[in-house]
Amino acid sequence: MNKDLYFKYQWRYKKEDLKFCPRCGHHFSLEDLHISNQPQLLCHNCEFVFYIDPKLVVVAVVLNKEENKVLLLQRNEEPGKGLWAFPGGHVERGHDLFETIQSEVREETGLSVAVKGIIDTDSIASDGVVQLTYRAIAHHEEIIINMESQQGRFFALDQIPWDALAFPSTKKILQLIAKE
Ligand SMILES: [Zn+2]
Repeated sequence: MNKDLYFKYQWRYKKEDLKFCPRCGHHFSLEDLHISNQPQLLCHNCEFVFYIDPKLVVVAVVLNKEENKVLLLQRNEEPGKGLWAFPGGHVERGHDLFETIQSEVREETGLSVAVKGIIDTDSIASDGVVQLTYRAIAHHEEIIINMESQQGRFFALDQIPWDALAFPSTKKILQLIAKE
């Protein structure tokens, strides 16, 4: 593999960006199929319909063993560079949801976690995203960050940096946690 090649993952594509049928290479046309004003990508050559599914995102609310501190990462990338957010990532087709949560947390923090119950579900239609947020318990508190973060910290629930959170969903989820 050529390690000099770096492709930016761009998931905010629209139906209009997709020009050609992946089966036969014929031009797609956008036409109403089931619901009016919600056109689908149709190939009139091979009759393939290409449904663009939302991207599935998992977010981990990682708590320490005593469950009185929550892990936040200070982002080193836009959007929200310098602000605090939870670890998480996209679930690729064919990958297990819970293994994805564990591997994303391990990659971003060095922590191994046990994934517990679901905390929140959300859909951000404009971004084409469905987000599932799970509670996870860390086996220890030593964090080894990667390039995606400036630092990582376990915050006591009364020390959450409310004015420096990266996303509206970060705040919403922390409010849910703080209420418990
Ligand atoms: Zn086709």
